[in-house]
Amino acid sequence: MQQHNVISKSVQVDPLTKLLDYVPFIDLLNQRFSSDSDSKKTLTALLFIEFDDLAQFNDIFGFNTDDQLIIQLSEKLSLLLKSEDVLARAGDNQYIIMQDLSASENPKELAKHIMHMLSEPFVVDTNIFYINASIGISCYPMDGNDAYRLIKTAKNTMRHAQKDGKNNIAFTPHRVALSSYEKSVRIMEDLPAAIENGEIYFAYQPQYSYTEERFIGAEMLARWRHPEYGEVSPEFFIPLAEKSGMVGPLTVKALVDASKAFTLFESEGIDDFSLSVNISPVFLMRSTFYKTIEFLMEQYPLSGKNINFEITEEVLMKNTDNLIKTLEKLKALDIGIELDDFGTGYTSLQHLAYLPIDTLKVDKSFVSGIDKNAKKKALFKAIVDMSHALNIDVIVEGVENSSEDRIIKTFKPTKAQGYFYSRPIHRDVLVEKLKQHNKQD
Ligand code: C2E
Ligand code: CA
Ligand code: CA
Repeated sequence: MQQHNVISKSVQVDPLTKLLDYVPFIDLLNQRFSSDSDSKKTLTALLFIEFDDLAQFNDIFGFNTDDQLIIQLSEKLSLLLKSEDVLARAGDNQYIIMQDLSASENPKELAKHIMHMLSEPFVVDTNIFYINASIGISCYPMDGNDAYRLIKTAKNTMRHAQKDGKNNIAFTPHRVALSSYEKSVRIMEDLPAAIENGEIYFAYQPQYSYTEERFIGAEMLARWRHPEYGEVSPEFFIPLAEKSGMVGPLTVKALVDASKAFTLFESEGIDDFSLSVNISPVFLMRSTFYKTIEFLMEQYPLSGKNINFEITEEVLMKNTDNLIKTLEKLKALDIGIELDDFGTGYTSLQHLAYLPIDTLKVDKSFVSGIDKNAKKKALFKAIVDMSHALNIDVIVEGVENSSEDRIIKTFKPTKAQGYFYSRPIHRDVLVEKLKQHNKQD
């Protein structure tokens, strides 16, 4: 096999093929994307390949026929790749290829080479086999910003290819050309079912504590994998959910998922970890808001768990007296309050003195380029100093590289959240990451 598939022993590999497993492959992709900035993206294609269930041959041709075929298939696939590409085994009959597109490689060409390779027979003992496959392709950054999203898209695309028959290649589903108004209407109609059926789910972005030097929590970020439009950004669908009254059910789902995540953490021996849920001002202002939260905290055992609500400055402009009462009642339920996107809105610094806020999340606009901008540095320092004086923690959002991180650290904020530490990731990947991190302690 070629050099690129020889992975160091410490990394999880598939025992049969010695190829990278799914979870380390996700990590590898996210690491690759983590050093990107808005202006520089490491163009990458993912090819999701599913071939026939080979175990079916074992009954007729003998035990282990499938293993022999899989080994041959892995070797033949490896030979088609460049040294920058990575082949991983994602399941019994699934592979994923990460293709580096920086040297103007073409994923469709690679997919064609794979199909051509499969048109030749495989030989085990004296028997001849033909293997069918379907391939779905997604591209970074066009189809998503993190590994999990890109893999899901490639896999979904592969399912589209399968619908058209075996041995097919498909790119990400062609987004139907609709006006944005028509699209909004469709998205609003699809929202209730999507919350129910799991098309909408939550990614977890870890938060790193500078003082404790470990991941101490995560923010839950809504994701929607729409069957027709592909990935729909929360920046698009949250405002529509607010308009159509679905933002309440979305928050309920977030809290139910949070309770499941805490149960998983406990079973994996992870404690002292917080989860932050975004609360839309529209929901917060509803008369039913507090009762709903109180009910959920009891019903799903969330009481006593380390849970935070992220609210935005927007709510501060409205009905401040009622807001303070609501926030105090939430604090009585042991819910931490974080003020999100600080610095983009209307909050005057005075607000902070009387609002029951535990944490300030400094918006990423303060951070990007702080290493090159003395004014930003001064502003940032002022915010951190003032928060410390008021006994408010500071989370810095959108830390993207080591040079920003180095500067930020000197002002001693409490925590950081950003691509430099981790992209938003799937819950299971988060658990792996935390276990890995705990081991190093
Ligand atoms: P937010 O609450 O400010 O969330 C942070 C956003 O910044 C996320 O985008 C996250 O992926 C992105 N981000 C994190 N680190 C970095 C970084 O280093 N660089 C850059 N450039 N971006 C970074 P996302 O997930 O697309 O969410 C966008 C917004 O949608 C959120 O902004 C939040 O306002 C809203 N949202 C997401 N999920 C929910 C939800 O469940 N409920 C409500 N009400 N709003 C949500
Ligand atoms: Ca947030
Ligand atoms: Ca934010």
